[in-house]
Amino acid sequence: MAKIFCVANQKGGVGKTTTTVNLAAGLAKLKQRVLLVDLDPQGNATMGAGINKAGLAASTYEVMLGTADVATARQRSESGRFDVLPSNRELAGAEVEMVELDNRERRLKDALAVVDKEYDFVLIDCPPALSLLTLNGLCAANGVIIPMQCEYYALEGLSDLVNTIKKVHANLNPDLKIIGLLRVMFDPRMTLSQQVSAQLEQHFGDKVFKTIIPRNVRLAEAPSYGIPGVTFDPSSKGAQAYIAFGAEMIKRIKKM
Ligand code: ATP
Ligand code: MG
Repeated sequence: MAKIFCVANQKGGVGKTTTTVNLAAGLAKLKQRVLLVDLDPQGNATMGAGINKAGLAASTYEVMLGTADVATARQRSESGRFDVLPSNRELAGAEVEMVELDNRERRLKDALAVVDKEYDFVLIDCPPALSLLTLNGLCAANGVIIPMQCEYYALEGLSDLVNTIKKVHANLNPDLKIIGLLRVMFDPRMTLSQQVSAQLEQHFGDKVFKTIIPRNVRLAEAPSYGIPGVTFDPSSKGAQAYIAFGAEMIKRIKKM
């Protein structure tokens, strides 16, 4: 059975998509079978995996509304060697249309059940909002990975996310836990980064992943080529860090 993880943080631009795409590619390099679910109407993970979001025959949108199944809608990321349930701006409409439907928080969970046996990992890239789409991600998942920048405002908003996760755990998905906080875009030369990083370790203990993702320009350049950073420049510090993170995740799921 696949382990399903949501990459979530309602703050925008904190590295959710970069983490989802590169963790997927890193895990694929480590011989894991991975499905990436793009749950964001921005479709950045879709494009970053090398799939053109314009003119998708079927996408996360149809899957959420029940008019296509995952097996039909998924595509292969050749550059990343994982499967992708792609999305584009159409998905924004699902937010409204799903309100009318039965089981509206569990649409994604039910859809994923069908392909569960085909993967070791399912990684869900969430939009920057605590919306019905994100709620579907949280209901489908065994755990949440929270990417964070080590800056002054990093902890602001974290309590909203943690409270949402607690509520989902209590009412909708008893399986759900926070797997960990991932420090991303880390700049070791900045004293502030070091301080916030130390604070995170103090407050959250082993809920903070050991792996730290550095700020690395190769990770930022890769999406414009539709190639995950991990494959675009495997020797770069960013790629190495995401492969190490993949190894850390494989270790963690053995304890789950
Ligand atoms: P959104 O909330 O809009 O979905 P996001 O949380 O998914 O954003 P990303 O798109 O992954 O964030 O990253 C935001 C920007 O930061 C992008 O331009 C990305 O290329 C860049 N970026 C992310 N991680 C790194 C890194 N480790 N080093 C350098 N640049 C990075
Ligand atoms: Mg994103």
